[in-house]
Amino acid sequence: MRHRDPAWNPAAGSAGAGLPRVAWGKGLYVYDTAGRRYLDASGGPAVFCLGHGNDEVNAAITRQLERIAHGYRYSFTSDPLEELEQLIGAAAGPGFESMVFVSGGSEAVESALKIALQYHTARGARARRRFIARRRSWHGNTLGALAVSDFAARRAPFEGALTEASFIPAVNAYRPPAGVAPEELARHGAAELEREILAQGAERVAAFIFEPVVGAAGGVVPAPAGYAALVREVCDRHGVLMIADEVMCGSGRCGSWRALAQEGVTPDLFAIAKGLGAGYLPLGAAVYHRRIAEVIDAADGGPLTGHTFTGHTAACAAGVAVQTIVRRERLVERVAAEGPRFMAALSAELADVEAVGDVRGRGFFVGIEFVAERATRRPFAPELGFAGRVGRAGVELGLLCYPVSGIVDGVEGDAILLAPPYNATAQELAEIVALTSRAIRRALAGRPAR
Ligand code: PMP
Repeated sequence: MRHRDPAWNPAAGSAGAGLPRVAWGKGLYVYDTAGRRYLDASGGPAVFCLGHGNDEVNAAITRQLERIAHGYRYSFTSDPLEELEQLIGAAAGPGFESMVFVSGGSEAVESALKIALQYHTARGARARRRFIARRRSWHGNTLGALAVSDFAARRAPFEGALTEASFIPAVNAYRPPAGVAPEELARHGAAELEREILAQGAERVAAFIFEPVVGAAGGVVPAPAGYAALVREVCDRHGVLMIADEVMCGSGRCGSWRALAQEGVTPDLFAIAKGLGAGYLPLGAAVYHRRIAEVIDAADGGPLTGHTFTGHTAACAAGVAVQTIVRRERLVERVAAEGPRFMAALSAELADVEAVGDVRGRGFFVGIEFVAERATRRPFAPELGFAGRVGRAGVELGLLCYPVSGIVDGVEGDAILLAPPYNATAQELAEIVALTSRAIRRALAGRPAR
């Protein structure tokens, strides 16, 4: 099976070249079967937050597999499942002791959407069925998650079969709506949400779902300060649930365990995956607040969603091992401390590159947006496939980053994402900065004149 998405997949698409064949990995490095070494600067799609080949995590998984791979949820609970609930509850903050474990980000989002609907049904507000999401956002590939995602190329083949959702404009400080001053952006974005809730009729709206820091669909776009708090107020005013999709930006990636915690904002539900199990086994979770749990538990006895592999025992054991290391080694604090230095080093290194329009992000989650012209922020023509070019130049140099395209309007706009492991050393971070710069300069040098 081959996966086609040249912009997403840096190694594919160059003169019909196939993908390298992965052999093994250790720390920041991945090796292919031909013996080539790659510096994994994006942790795949912001997944491998402890790097590759972590002995402690692998040993925990092996120990679990030697006992039993999985105790099916209708027959058993397990120590790893309950330990992971404890760890997530403690990291997420008061009120978040309820969760459904799943196998990835799309299932986590899908579960959060369903729990929101179940909550409204349990309260007798059955008319609240509609979701509001934002343009330039990505929530996953299952039909429900795709229906609230605005990623034209990934939606196109399925249009007509996707549940209707409302999309309000993206909130992006680098590309604000015309006439909106930077200090007004947060308020403007929250007002757009309120306008759409009123247009739909609040009694029909189930939830607002958003990425606190937009990942693949925007090229790492943090919301302006104050936005999430204003959104919280709007949601509360209208009985609309707030769902934070923290699949990419959560689990410590942005320098707080919940991305929204640094805004002082508590959502009703949030979805996590990638960094939760650090890619060692497939794992995600929809976590929901006690105030939601109390309503659905009283009406239905618990969440009416889940899968065969919900709470998969070995996957939970992987999650416990990862989260134990993250906590013991104070890695989230490390990300918070090192992130600004990493981003500043990238900005300084790329300051002379006219094609670098913006370097932005939070913690160890950084986006570099490319432009044809810095002053006007005009993107490159999409035919150029510039993000993919940077990705391929990186591969030639032994660097893995995550190229994304269509970030301006679904068609135009190029960026790369960097997401180093939380335990990357200062020297490794410096190596990422240097190689990224070389990859960008190489892509520019090889760009056809136009
Ligand atoms: N939400 C966000 C914010 C994501 O970045 C992704 C994956 N890129 C998903 C949901 C879907 O996760 P998965 O690919 O694990 O199904």
